[in-house]
Amino acid sequence: MSGIDSFLSTSLKELIGGKSAASLEKAFGITRAGELLNHYPRRYIDRGRLTTFSNVEVGVPVTIMATIHSVETRRMTQKRGFILVVKVTDGLDFIELTFFNQKWREKDLKVGRSGLFAGTVSEYRGVRTLTHPKFALFADIGLDISQETDAITNFTGEIISVYPSSQDLASWQIQAAIDVVLTSANELMDPIPAELVAKHGFMTKLESLHAIHQPKDHDEIVRATQRIKYEEAFILLALMRQRKSQAKAAIAHARNGSDGVVLSEFDNSLPFELTQGQREVGKEIAQDLARSIPMTRLLQGDVGSGKTIVSIRAMLDVISSGGQVALLAPTEVLAVQHLESLQRFLKGVTSRTIRVDLLTGAMPVATRRQVLLNAQSGDLDILVGTHALLEEKVHFFDLGLIVIDEQHRFGVEQRAVMLTKGKGELRPHLLVMTATPIPRTVALTIFGDLDVSTLTESPSLRAEVQTHLVSTSGMPRSVLRVWERMAEEVAAGNKVFVVCPTISRSEVDPKKVKTSQVKTPQPEPLASVEETYESLTRQFPHIEFAMLHGGLDSHNKQEIMHRFGGLEGPNIDVLIATTVIEVGVDIPEATMMVVLNAERFGMSQLHQLRGRIGRGSLPGLCILVHGFSYSSASTDRLSAMRDSRDGFILSQKDLEIRGEGDVLGQDQSGALSSLRLLKIIDDLDFIETVRIEIEELYEGNSWDSVLQAIDSFEIARAQNLEKA
Ligand code: ADP
Ligand code: MG
Repeated sequence: MSGIDSFLSTSLKELIGGKSAASLEKAFGITRAGELLNHYPRRYIDRGRLTTFSNVEVGVPVTIMATIHSVETRRMTQKRGFILVVKVTDGLDFIELTFFNQKWREKDLKVGRSGLFAGTVSEYRGVRTLTHPKFALFADIGLDISQETDAITNFTGEIISVYPSSQDLASWQIQAAIDVVLTSANELMDPIPAELVAKHGFMTKLESLHAIHQPKDHDEIVRATQRIKYEEAFILLALMRQRKSQAKAAIAHARNGSDGVVLSEFDNSLPFELTQGQREVGKEIAQDLARSIPMTRLLQGDVGSGKTIVSIRAMLDVISSGGQVALLAPTEVLAVQHLESLQRFLKGVTSRTIRVDLLTGAMPVATRRQVLLNAQSGDLDILVGTHALLEEKVHFFDLGLIVIDEQHRFGVEQRAVMLTKGKGELRPHLLVMTATPIPRTVALTIFGDLDVSTLTESPSLRAEVQTHLVSTSGMPRSVLRVWERMAEEVAAGNKVFVVCPTISRSEVDPKKVKTSQVKTPQPEPLASVEETYESLTRQFPHIEFAMLHGGLDSHNKQEIMHRFGGLEGPNIDVLIATTVIEVGVDIPEATMMVVLNAERFGMSQLHQLRGRIGRGSLPGLCILVHGFSYSSASTDRLSAMRDSRDGFILSQKDLEIRGEGDVLGQDQSGALSSLRLLKIIDDLDFIETVRIEIEELYEGNSWDSVLQAIDSFEIARAQNLEKA
């Protein structure tokens, strides 16, 4: 049996004709039968029960079921011709349909008739209007197809499915296409093994598709939804399980850390005690490294939880056993900082020299060439770098471990590229780190192909940090107070970060431009690094300010960070920066942070930013200055930030406020892109059950048939990803 269910991969052109297929492709990128059948209804309308207009939003495409209340023809005032104004009602409220010079529609649009009307609602003087809507009217039995539609639909059911639709494609046209496809479908291959279908009492796959698209009653919808969710979870978790076992099937060089002398030298040289979590995770990692099965581990821990130390200890195990390490960081600032902290920490190791080098895109050619040579000949132990490490010409003598910091900035493919840089056929061990911790159960699903370790304490963030919200709208006085507070902090000998959303003044707020159809007050300009610098320099001539942003060259950036960190050169008191400082920057003397236009930043971004202060022994102060905020979500976000400093709590909140699609959106494995009905957060308990069943199947002897069955879905998913 081929793994591909041939019906589901049939091209829609063949099934429903070129014209309809073309509009589906244009609107949704849907080209195959299976994809169309996965385009599930957004909601259902009970025939005979009108949809309420109260939640009809202006500016968004809608489909409503309504009854015609009145029809009127008016002569246009400016031009020749007529406007046909049709008032439709949900029984309480009214929406107007307008047609220009289409007087002939009067004969269809009779008072008292009901139907579906689709279009984008606009509002003029308090009247909601659909201009030239698509419509399909109900006849006494079934549905009249207006001349607008080109497909024949049968609307005999009691429940009408309403689909996510587009400007060109009305819900009922999608329904008609689905009807054709469903009618030609025979039996479909089921990715869920028969014994599990029986155990859970599920419908067959084909039955579930009929039921979700053309339900006879509400009970069918519930049962179909359950089965489809289960199927989504099943495929996702089975693929993850398979990916994991593939990764583990490769062979790695076992690195047992030799006699452990180097590691104990290092531990003894640390100015602090390792936390219990650091010890435990360290042990897990050491055990992984000592095996010839490649480690593929995610280390998640809040900002300041001390992941770097944990990773250095892993590096030392590998280096003492003769391997090299690559440390990948998303930005140059962070890569340089890693290099420097490695050099600092590794001073404690005296029994051997550990050679650390840096590779970034911005380095002079000669230096770069030397570093590449060192990596290849084995003349360096640790290579720290940015995306430059991924390049083909980067070779190692014997790469034993890859550490990826802030892994969410890298894709799965990039991980895969690094994994090919091992010696011969050997696969390096992999440790990826993230400071955007998500609940463990969520991590196990999204990162199902990795083992997960979690650090829960943040030893470096013992100092208290207070967070205050300050509004700029109409309260210039409170902002002045913020700058006075900054001056006091500097006078006390501390360092201050000021974060702005943009570099220069000319930049317009892109988000406001996008939503400009919706009425918002005149956009306020966004705070920029350059303007803030100019204005603060003028107001506080005795304070040393500097700017840091992505537009500066790397030499400049490095010099500024050194001066701000008190390492060398003339002192800097206040660093005015963009989010380049968001990741990893570690300046213990920094005690205060002011974020301007804080409403423009996401929660994990704000959390990361705030993690830059309170790192030393002194308490910190974080002031989130926000302008007019136009969504309750941004208000909720800022209040959550004020109330908690725990990354786990904040990510949970973020998931609640924004929904998982946005939070986990660009998840590393592309796992979410194939989910339609399953919600990782809401369905966690359920996912847990499926995970156990998958594990049993994996341990049993029918895993091969599971693989065969999900094969086609993997292929379909890959096709989807390519298109996206
Ligand atoms: P993150 O997990 O955010 O990457 P880092 O590894 O950068 O955190 O650690 C943040 C700070 O905490 C560093 O200055 C580091 O030296 C310090 N640190 C790490 N472990 C401990 C510990 N056990 N006790 C005290 N400070 C620690
Ligand atoms: Mg870090």
